[in-house]
Amino acid sequence: MEAYMKLLREQNPEIAKYLDLMQPMMENKEIEVDAIVETKKVDPELQNQINKLKKINRKLFTIVEGLKVQLELELNQNDDLAKAIGACLECFGENSECSECFGTGKPGVAIPDFILFNKYINPAIQKYNKHYFNKN
Ligand SMILES: [Zn+2]
Repeated sequence: MEAYMKLLREQNPEIAKYLDLMQPMMENKEIEVDAIVETKKVDPELQNQINKLKKINRKLFTIVEGLKVQLELELNQNDDLAKAIGACLECFGENSECSECFGTGKPGVAIPDFILFNKYINPAIQKYNKHYFNKN
């Protein structure tokens, strides 16, 4: 996950900015607003705005956490599918600049994983053959 976040940062500076802003929340650190609020009397309207922003931040944090979980699941599923067809896990052989295969990792370049092939590919082949060659 950390490697993927790093890749995201490198590929998209705009996302990197957001991730930097989210980092304190992701580490469960309260931004220093609390310290300011406790030591000084704050305008009630400003306090209200702070509370609203904190609420929004908590919602965003929850969304980010959910997206991280979903991303992790989908990355694992993507890896399984690549293994099922014997392709590069990073790019399926579609990226000539891939650090793992330089675009040579197309499906079938490696021996497909037996279990994953039977889980993902075999049912699709059966359906494909039935649909295109065995119409009744
Ligand atoms: Zn690759």
